[in-house]
Amino acid sequence: MIDIINYDDSNIFSKILRKEIPSDIVFEDKNVLAFKDINPQAPIHILIIPKSKYCSFSDFSLKASSEEIEAFFRAINDITEKLKIYDGYRLISNVGAFGGQEVPHFHFHLLSGKALGSKIT
Ligand code: AMP
Repeated sequence: MIDIINYDDSNIFSKILRKEIPSDIVFEDKNVLAFKDINPQAPIHILIIPKSKYCSFSDFSLKASSEEIEAFFRAINDITEKLKIYDGYRLISNVGAFGGQEVPHFHFHLLSGKALGSKIT
């Protein structure tokens, strides 16, 4: 099992959720916040996070309610519609040390705005 750490409220996305630090929000509802990545890797680079406290995708999958999981995944499509992303996109969720996860609050990266190619790394 990968998530042996407890959720740490001092992580940067937790601060963004509490509006302690600014972010460029593109979507918000009861369960989900989406904002622009500060260091974009594509013309469109959005971070999508649940408002509840989960350390990673693994943690979310294990502990989130069915309602939270459904709300999160449905929001992703709402975001692509809102941003008029009609030519495709890539979703990535880095998990743990080998996955290269830097911020320990579960998030998806949504990348688009150009042809991204087929390589993952
Ligand atoms: P990960 O490596 O999957 O944990 O990705 C963390 C992402 O958060 C990176 O792409 C960073 O550029 C991004 N990031 C870090 N701090 C901020 C911030 N204050 N606002 C927006 N994005 C951020």
